[in-house]
Amino acid sequence: MTRRERQEHIDKGLLLPLMEEFYTIQGEGYHKGTAAYFVRIGGCDVGCHWCDVKESWLAELHPPTETEKIVANAVAYSKTIVVTGGEPLMWDMGPLTEQLKAKQVQTHIETSGAYKLSGTWDWICLSPKK
Ligand code: SF4
Repeated sequence: MTRRERQEHIDKGLLLPLMEEFYTIQGEGYHKGTAAYFVRIGGCDVGCHWCDVKESWLAELHPPTETEKIVANAVAYSKTIVVTGGEPLMWDMGPLTEQLKAKQVQTHIETSGAYKLSGTWDWICLSPKK
């Protein structure tokens, strides 16, 4: 894939800068206590001084990863997938959530609300930031 093609795939949400992914227990909010697979997408330009994941900020540090691969990993572990960041809505969440919904899993997102909503979600956790 050329550099230009890669950027086009990123722009379409077919590649996402994957920072980390892990299976754990949701530790906060309405779904606290639910086992879930977390997908942390890199990239955030909100710049909260209290941020505890500053290493997520630079998207280019995290490998552009095919949504199919992210979905395959996630659905192998859980029926509840939590997409977090960084700020995942810097990217088009349409392809990722379409593929997750095709697997009939619950899609949750954690967002600052700084960007327009994309994707199809069963649960939106909005935590307003600066
Ligand atoms: S919006 Fe979230 S990820 Fe971005 S700087 Fe603020 S706390 Fe950190």
